Amino acid sequence: MYNAASLKAEEFISDEEIRETLAYADANKENVELIDAIIAKARERKGLNHREASVLLACEIPEKLEEIYALAEQIKQDFYGNRIVLFAPLYLSNYCVNGCLYCPYHLKNKHIARKKLTQEEIVKEVTALQDMGHKRLAIEAGEDPVNNPIEYILECINTIYSIKHKNGAIRRVNVNIAATTVENYRKLKEAGIGTYILFQETYHKESYEKLHPTGPKHNYAYHTEAMDRAMEGGIDDVGLGVLFGLELYRYEFAGLLMHAEHLEAVHGVGPHTISVPRVKHADDIDPSAFDNGISDDIFAKLCALIRISVPYTGMIISTRESQEVRERVLPLGVSQISGASKTSVGGYAEPETEEEVTSAQFDVSDQRTLDEVVNWLMKLGYLPSFCTACYREGRTGDRFMELCKNMQILNCCHPNALLTLKEYLLDYASEETREIGEAMIERELARIPNPKARETATEHLKRIGEGKRDFRF
Ligand code: SF4
Ligand code: SF4
Repeated sequence: MYNAASLKAEEFISDEEIRETLAYADANKENVELIDAIIAKARERKGLNHREASVLLACEIPEKLEEIYALAEQIKQDFYGNRIVLFAPLYLSNYCVNGCLYCPYHLKNKHIARKKLTQEEIVKEVTALQDMGHKRLAIEAGEDPVNNPIEYILECINTIYSIKHKNGAIRRVNVNIAATTVENYRKLKEAGIGTYILFQETYHKESYEKLHPTGPKHNYAYHTEAMDRAMEGGIDDVGLGVLFGLELYRYEFAGLLMHAEHLEAVHGVGPHTISVPRVKHADDIDPSAFDNGISDDIFAKLCALIRISVPYTGMIISTRESQEVRERVLPLGVSQISGASKTSVGGYAEPETEEEVTSAQFDVSDQRTLDEVVNWLMKLGYLPSFCTACYREGRTGDRFMELCKNMQILNCCHPNALLTLKEYLLDYASEETREIGEAMIERELARIPNPKARETATEHLKRIGEGKRDFRF
């Protein structure tokens, strides 16, 4: 029986409910009256449930799709402005005991190079990341109780936060590790992590079990209920995601929204972020082996619908996607992107050569440097942000919602973006990027509505120019 508030995976992600939802969506995909009513509801900025959003996903009426895209752009503007937050992944270890069929780190892959960073190597990696200008990392590790126990992850987090190189600092470490126990989540919380990210991969239980034939990840319920344990352990920022291409996208989309509804129903807080990765080529992984790949058009439609369905949830897109695709979906609601990512273990300090046996999890499509990404964003009119203020001010859980509800985005997130961009420009940018950035800061400063906030931001910017760092609203 479907029950959003249940703590059992098969009840809050009910296969029956998803199938009924898809049938309902098919039956109504040309029902203009209903579609108009759903779009009107989304216009109120209160989001859509999985049934409503699934009708829009099934709809192929060109004028309605135009309305959906326009609304997604509007909501993105209203809730996030032109800011795009930047981060980088940091691969700690690719030892893994699982058998995931779509990932080259699976246990049976004997020709991938297995690596695990020592604390000394982490210092080198993080120094290299700091020297690019990154302030926010997402750490990644395979599941391996012997090689990557929780103590190792905690030690790494501690090391990362302790590294201060020139003006560099990692101010927020998000964590993407396997589903674990409440006790371990509590330890991660105590270590000061930002968001806990865990991709569901697929919500379709049968496919899930086939795609994860061996290892602890095979247990669908344990994996699907992980976010509840994380929240019980005190982590109130969690990041969802599915790997598009494994199962039918309409099924995954409904499941994703049901998961968000479940978190809201049980914990009173929806997901902090949703990621939208697509299956990519990697060592011993051929994406065409998965026959549910989605086109760029469907991908854009999914991004737009996520934006209007869960307006308060950040949306993340990685360097799995090309510059072209990223450019297409940025206005539709993406709020965070990775930049200059390396998906190999130790790849920042010592990039792998073509001849070397790779340790990478997937091929990166967007290979530009962080300076190039920052430059590109600004030329497109986006404001690159390295902000980590909420986490550091203890504004977790539904704090972004509070900022939105109180219309404080332009008085809080926006100046924080300007301050962190200024730091970036002074410490890391090329001359051309600096010039574009300084002009952008001038322009954007005038958009802060509250005169007091504008004055404070101006003062902070001046102090940053004098060498001080780390101001925040
Ligand atoms: S997806 Fe994660 S759990 Fe699966 S093989 Fe890769 S690293 Fe291991
Ligand atoms: S102020 Fe908070 S919500 Fe706004 S960009 Fe910074 S961390 Fe995000």
